[in-house]
Amino acid sequence: MSRDEVLVLDPIGCAGHGLCAELLPEWITLDEWGYPILRPEAIPPELLPHARRAVAACPKLALRLRALSAS
Ligand code: SF4
Repeated sequence: MSRDEVLVLDPIGCAGHGLCAELLPEWITLDEWGYPILRPEAIPPELLPHARRAVAACPKLALRLRALSAS
């Protein structure tokens, strides 16, 4: 059984150029300064490959996927 995963952002590390929002517009929008706003829900399975791509593409390593612990 796969675990649910959420996207988390390191706001200190983020440089705010919005690459992640281009790669995962379903889940990431940008605020008026160009910093990402992430949806807090678990990523649907069909979007996980895109989420992993966005995480891998972040040049500041500021975007991560975190597994939610099943309880
Ligand atoms: S790609 Fe990384 S550095 Fe760029 S806006 Fe997204 S989280 Fe921030």
